[in-house]
Amino acid sequence: MLDLAIVGGGPAGLTAGLYATRGGLKEVVMFEKGMPGGQIMDSSEIENYPGQGNIMTGMELMQNWPEQCQKFGLKHEMNQVDTIVKEGETFKLTMVDGKEFEAKAVLMATGSVPKKAGFAGEDKFFGRGVSTCATCDGFFYKGKEVAVIGGGDTALEEAVYLAKLCSKVYLVHRRDTYRAAPSTIEHMKNAENIEEVTNVTVEEVFGDASGVTGLKVKSKETGEIRDLNVPGAFVFVGRDVLNAPLKQEDGSFLCDVNEQGEVIVDLKMQTSTKGLYAAGDIRIDAAKQVVCAAGDGATAAVNIIEYVG
Ligand SMILES: Cc1cc2nc3c(=O)[nH]c(=O)nc-3n(C[C@H](O)[C@H](O)[C@H](O)COP(=O)(O)OP(=O)(O)OC[C@H]3O[C@@H](n4cnc5c(N)ncnc54)[C@H](O)[C@@H]3O)c2cc1C
Repeated sequence: MLDLAIVGGGPAGLTAGLYATRGGLKEVVMFEKGMPGGQIMDSSEIENYPGQGNIMTGMELMQNWPEQCQKFGLKHEMNQVDTIVKEGETFKLTMVDGKEFEAKAVLMATGSVPKKAGFAGEDKFFGRGVSTCATCDGFFYKGKEVAVIGGGDTALEEAVYLAKLCSKVYLVHRRDTYRAAPSTIEHMKNAENIEEVTNVTVEEVFGDASGVTGLKVKSKETGEIRDLNVPGAFVFVGRDVLNAPLKQEDGSFLCDVNEQGEVIVDLKMQTSTKGLYAAGDIRIDAAKQVVCAAGDGATAAVNIIEYVG
């Protein structure tokens, strides 16, 4: 019987493992389907992790985390968690290879991944002008023009965020109405340097060896093609929340989730199911930053130690 099963070995899961084992929990296993480190390992530059002054790759930032976090007894099981159920006070975790584990408490730290819009050049220029994170990359375009692609709450909020840093933001949307809260739409409309480019499809992002130089959009009404000459294109067309292990046989979730499938937690990272916690990008209202995910992991662990007793 494990004291704690941590699902996911990104910044949230690793930090929770460090705090839980250093805080006295004995049997703590972190289930990670790949190498520990999480999605920041895909980033070519991060410069907003406090204490790390220089721009570095995500790989460089994370290289010492596993060793430090496993120093106090955290075990790493390289496996993918398929399902989690609760029977009485005990959680049962089944891996995709059929292996089973029991735990007194579970921390979900599997994150969420941005959806792709699917236009030409999106993959080719990802990390070289195409981004899915304004907080991470907006600063690199300070004083420049950028495009934001999407029409939901996140796209509009991020367009407003970028409008404060950039000289101009083109808000590119395939419809002429937005799926966002009225107050968010109002904020966006009040920003003088946001130009709405609606009812268009993105044909391609183009560029050269240095990165993105522009975006080709096509009017759905007239078929007219327009080039937006920007060095940055931010894509916000939704996220896949990696909550599959929480799905129960009857189609319900093991704990409450919101419409997007993000796990609802309180300030202790406790979910609606006793003993089940969530931290990092998978939870509601996550800032989706490494430092925040790590903070969540620590908060969860401190409270799990108290819960396990
Ligand atoms: C390209 C890019 C650039 C970024 N730039 C920055 C930046 O500059 N600054 C910043 O602060 N943040 C940045 N971020 C965001 C940051 O990476 C995330 O906010 C952070 O990694 C979230 O941590 P997490 O632990 O919640 O989840 P993740 O890092 O997503 O880790 C979740 C882990 O869970 C594992 N997993 C998922 N499902 C299962 C399962 N069923 N079983 C076992 N394991 C599973 C995954 O393999 C993954 O390793 C960037 C992200 C990307 C992709």
